[in-house]
Amino acid sequence: MSGIIQLLPDHIANQIAAGEVIQRPASVVKELMENAIDAGSSKIQVVIKDAGKTMIQVTDNGTGMIPEDALKCFDRHATSKIQSADDLYALTTKGFRGEALASIAAIAHVTLRTRHLNADIGQEIEMEGSQIRRNEPCVAPIGTTFEIKNLFFNVPARRNFLKSDAIEWNHIVDEFERVALAHPDIHFALTHNNQEVHELPSQVLRKRIVDVIGKSSNDKLVPIEEETAIVSVHGFVGKPEAARKTRGQQFLFVNNRFFKDSYFNHAIVRAFEGLLPAKHHPSYFLYFTVDPKRIDVNVHPTKTEIKFEEDRSIYAILVSSIRQALGKYNIAPTLDFEQETGFDLPHSFKNLPATEPVISVDPDFNPFRSYGAKGTASNRDKSFTPAIQAEGFGKKQPDSADWQSFYQVKEEEENQTVLLSNEPDLDLNVSGVLLLDSPFFAGYVNNELLIVHSIRAYLRVTYDQLMHHFLHSPVASQALLFPFERACSAAEKEEWLVNEVLLNRLGFVTHFDENNIVISAVPSLLHAESIHECIEQIFDKITFTKVEKSDVAHHVVLELSRSESKQKGKVSSQIEAEELLTALLAAKEPGLTPDGKTILSNISFTDLTRFF
Ligand code: ADP
Ligand code: MG
Repeated sequence: MSGIIQLLPDHIANQIAAGEVIQRPASVVKELMENAIDAGSSKIQVVIKDAGKTMIQVTDNGTGMIPEDALKCFDRHATSKIQSADDLYALTTKGFRGEALASIAAIAHVTLRTRHLNADIGQEIEMEGSQIRRNEPCVAPIGTTFEIKNLFFNVPARRNFLKSDAIEWNHIVDEFERVALAHPDIHFALTHNNQEVHELPSQVLRKRIVDVIGKSSNDKLVPIEEETAIVSVHGFVGKPEAARKTRGQQFLFVNNRFFKDSYFNHAIVRAFEGLLPAKHHPSYFLYFTVDPKRIDVNVHPTKTEIKFEEDRSIYAILVSSIRQALGKYNIAPTLDFEQETGFDLPHSFKNLPATEPVISVDPDFNPFRSYGAKGTASNRDKSFTPAIQAEGFGKKQPDSADWQSFYQVKEEEENQTVLLSNEPDLDLNVSGVLLLDSPFFAGYVNNELLIVHSIRAYLRVTYDQLMHHFLHSPVASQALLFPFERACSAAEKEEWLVNEVLLNRLGFVTHFDENNIVISAVPSLLHAESIHECIEQIFDKITFTKVEKSDVAHHVVLELSRSESKQKGKVSSQIEAEELLTALLAAKEPGLTPDGKTILSNISFTDLTRFF
């Protein structure tokens, strides 16, 4: 009599096992992105059709595979990432089980195109339900593309179990963002139904977070930095006022791997105790670095739960470091400006969506901080606290970081429209009074008196608006009826050409006729009578003063704003005064012009009573 027990054929075993690893399209996205990271890629592109139900494609520029490995990678327990059981306790890679591709191939149509970095030619393999359909050389760039179609085609129960496109798509975005937040140094892109959803060039961490979760978050992040023998923690927590009623922006990473942990979440909530309104959740982006031997990532097949050997100590470290950081922020709310190179000119102008200029409101802004009310330029510096100076107040000359840090703080998630007509959501009661025959007007804000220099106020507001605009899309230009010509020295011509792309983006359309520059269009904001002076100023800055390239935009925008603010001149009605003051108070640096001149002074009631 023969026994009744049989080994399941591989494809059935794979199909069953697949259920554990691949629950939905988002799991495929995660596995393929992680493989791309393990392959040392610096750029990873994810293309999705119909929430992954029709197609998931992940392309990387990593090491690629030789044909032999390209075939092997679909075998169960085929991995290049561990050799012995010991390796399991010192994992530095995302994958190690060798299950993902076997699982995916068991339940979908898979096309793999890959070329190893040392190979001249690539290999293309098509799999369908664990069967090899095609395997032949192909032309391919170095790296790997996996294309997954018809997910769960042979597991109807699973396919029917999938939720609506909107829900499945949300899962994909979640996985994508977790991976992108864990690896700010890698360039990621995500496209859905031919629409670009994320384009995230390699960045410093803070900028990556801001790119992923929304630009308005930037000035709401408090940095955390803690080094201990057990763990190092770095990252950011949201300021208490940024807390939300819905959970969501809560991210923990260990050794660049996303994980969930209710115990650590509890620690973080405790650190916020007393600072949050009821039912609000803090946001956090915390990155732990620990010796891989001290964690066990093997707990769960999808690996979002991780066991820490010393979780109690880490709990205490979390509470204390977050409390400390929040305390520091309370005392000096503006000290968390990082001067990082990633905030230079935007990485790529090309793909920036066009947005209208916006006004953004600085929630930390306190109009009753002293702006050096009684200060003259010479003693102004002393009247600012270090925190305020760190923001740029009190500086006579702006440094190049000023307008770059502006990029950090000036962006809003939602497009709003034009500047002066826009009422910022500041809880201020603003009214204005004209002071006849003077460049000043008096503003009355929540019972305090502000004396405002109107041309300078226009300069600040226009500068911020224009710089913001410039960072998002090319500045509008207008063609000149009669092109403006000017003879240039060889150096002037060379420097102009070096900066041509930037100047073009700022609205100047030019070409050279021998050594003559011919300017056929200028920024539309530039008034006819200012064109000449503005061009001369630009030449002066780029050839004579030789400002840093990253400062050219600052100087040109400043010139344009000067032209505009001179044109506007004094305010001529109470409404104009109020609009200007409202816009000014929404600026990050309402106290000073971009070139360091005082815009406003406040007179307190104590000061006023002294006059009488
Ligand atoms: P694991 O990641 O756990 O090793 P997978 O099934 O995800 O298992 O992948 C199997 C193997 O295929 C990997 O170990 C790796 O050698 C290879 N591989 C998968 N994806 C890529 C890729 N994008 N680039 C290069 N090699 C890859
Ligand atoms: Mg893997």
